Amino acid sequence: MSLLNAHAPDLTEAMTDMDIQLYWHPSFSYQSSDVYSEMLSNLRNGSLELDILCVEGAAITGPAGTGLYETFMGVAKKDILIELASKARFVIAAGTCASFGGVTSAGEVEATGLQFQRKKIGGLLGEDFLSKEGFPVINIPGCPVHPTPFIGTLSLLLDGISLELNDYNSPTEYYSMLVHQGCTRNEYHEYQVEETDFGQKGCLFFHLGCHGPLAHGPCNKYLWNNRSCKTRSGVPCFGCTEPGFPQESPFFETPNIVGLPINLPDGVDRPHYLAYKGMAAAAAPARLRHRKTKV
Ligand code: SF4
Repeated sequence: MSLLNAHAPDLTEAMTDMDIQLYWHPSFSYQSSDVYSEMLSNLRNGSLELDILCVEGAAITGPAGTGLYETFMGVAKKDILIELASKARFVIAAGTCASFGGVTSAGEVEATGLQFQRKKIGGLLGEDFLSKEGFPVINIPGCPVHPTPFIGTLSLLLDGISLELNDYNSPTEYYSMLVHQGCTRNEYHEYQVEETDFGQKGCLFFHLGCHGPLAHGPCNKYLWNNRSCKTRSGVPCFGCTEPGFPQESPFFETPNIVGLPINLPDGVDRPHYLAYKGMAAAAAPARLRHRKTKV
C-alpha cells in the first residue's frame, strides 16, 4: 500500500518505465486462485522465469520450524519462499519484517527475516545465500518501506547500475544517511532545546524517544506524500529501519542515565557529548528557547 504513495513517477508509470510484468501481488492481483496456482507451479518447475522475488512480511517458521502456521494449499509458505528464492535473479526484502524479522519476530509465531534475524545474519535463507545474479537478499527496510527507496532500488537493479550495500545489505544510496539529517528540529537539537511534552517545536531526542541520530534511512529526505514524516509531524523516529526494531522499552520515552540518553548519536563518545551539550545549552539563542521561529 505504501507503494501507492509513489510520485514522479507514480507506481503505474514506474512499472511501465521499468517494463515490469507483475506476476502476483496480494492487493493488485485479481484473477482466480487457479490462475496463480498454475503460475506458481510454472515458476517452481522453471517453465516461467522469475527476475525479481519481492517479499513483504517476515517468514513464519513456527511451530517448531515447520512453517505450518502459514501455508498455501497445504505447503508451508517458507518452503515456497526458499524454492522461489533459488530461482530468482534478485531477491528483495521490502520492509523491516522481511529484512530483519521486525514486529513479527518480536511475537510468538516464530518468524525471521529472509537473511537476517534482527542483527544476526542467517535468517530463513542462510548467511551464504546469493541470488542468481550473485546478490544477497537486498534489504529495503522501513515500517512500512518508503516507495522511493523501493522503486529506486528496482530501477538501479534493472538498469544494471552497480548497487553498493551496507553491513545489513541495504543500498547505501538510501540507507547511509541518518533520519536526523534533514530534520526540521535540527537547530533545536544543536542547542539542546529538548521537549518533555508533545506539541512543541524542539528536539525529541533527550526525553521523547527519538532515534533520529541513530537510525539509518532517508525519512527526512524523501517525505511521505512529498510532504511529511514522523519528526515533522511531532512524533519521534522509532528507528523502524534498523535491524533491532522494535525496541523493548516504551516508544515515547528515551532511556537515560542522569538525564543523558543511554544511546548517543551514531559514533559519538559520551564525555565529549556531555561537554558539548552543556555548552550548547548555555549558548541557545532566545528565539529557540522560546520556540519562536521568527525574530
Ligand atoms: S527530533 Fe529526532 S531527528 Fe529531529 S533533530 Fe531531534 S533527534 Fe534529530
